[in-house]
Amino acid sequence: METRILNTDEEGIRTAGAIAASGGLVAFPTETVYGLGANAYNDEAVERIYEAKGRPSDNPLIVHIADKAEINKLAAEVSENALKLIDAFMPGPFTVILKKSGSIGGAVTAGMDTVGIRFPENDTAQRFIRAAGVPIAAPSANLSGKPSPTEARHVIDDMSGRIDAILDGGSCSVGVESTIVDASRGIPVVLRPGGITYEQLTAVVPETIIDPHILESLGEGEKPLCPGMKYKHYAPNAEVTVVEGGMAEVKNKIDELLEQNRDKVCGVLTMSGNAYDSAVILCAGTTNRDYAKNLFSCLREFDRLGAEVVFAEFEERDGYGLAVRNRLYKSAAQRVIYV
Ligand code: AMP
Ligand code: MG
Repeated sequence: METRILNTDEEGIRTAGAIAASGGLVAFPTETVYGLGANAYNDEAVERIYEAKGRPSDNPLIVHIADKAEINKLAAEVSENALKLIDAFMPGPFTVILKKSGSIGGAVTAGMDTVGIRFPENDTAQRFIRAAGVPIAAPSANLSGKPSPTEARHVIDDMSGRIDAILDGGSCSVGVESTIVDASRGIPVVLRPGGITYEQLTAVVPETIIDPHILESLGEGEKPLCPGMKYKHYAPNAEVTVVEGGMAEVKNKIDELLEQNRDKVCGVLTMSGNAYDSAVILCAGTTNRDYAKNLFSCLREFDRLGAEVVFAEFEERDGYGLAVRNRLYKSAAQRVIYV
């Protein structure tokens, strides 16, 4: 299959919309990461998303809309707390989980009785969804297990020849995925930290809680609320180790690790002015917000540069720290050294 690269001009958007409406797969930019979209009402098209990504079929997709009125068609009920969150954070990097109506097929929701709904803020995403004229089911547009794509070229690297088209809308401003909040059963629960911080959520619904599994790997036989939690994620080819704590101690520890790994191509992901004697050094920025924006593209860059092991500096500094930590720990398969 030849994958078309489309511009975000009128014609590009119209073409992308028509491809999706008629059952094709289109990767499109959002403010979080690039999504891989299909007509959410077309189960066959949705199944092709799982195939193209190599995604386990029990990991549901988020339904993207460009008009809040769609929520009442997709959801069976919208609680008062859900409404408050929707009013505050849509459009934006936020996904709400609600009891689903009968309009969405089993492929999108992987057989669950709930549906994840997101209204992206990104202008290209909104124009594409409107052009398609249907809600768009979309996970991130990476091969399953790889870091999420934040630029069109990342999607080209993973998906060329596997999907119909890629809408090139430049780089994503948030860089990590949406915050997922389950508002389908009483007190809202954060299932995945992301582009909306916990502080922002509790300013609107103070009783909102965070699922404790966010930063852990699941125990044997434990069943996650968010099926995506249990899979390997965001992993570059290199073996990543997170070194977390104050930056002076982090520097000492990473120096020691570099010494121990002298026979390998080592990379360091920094968030400080620390200098290292190493082959590949990339800076993710000094705030957690910048770290979120740059993390996935840095992980992909380490691969491009041939790093075999990567040591990532990390310290929680602002409200985006939780989202960064969640992605970093997963990309490191929970190899974390606290100093
Ligand atoms: P991705 O867009 O690639 O980040 O994948 C979507 C994420 O949303 C996955 O982690 C899913 O497990 C999660 N998700 C989608 N729908 C639901 C749902 N109904 N309930 C819980 N989690 C969901
Ligand atoms: Mg994903």
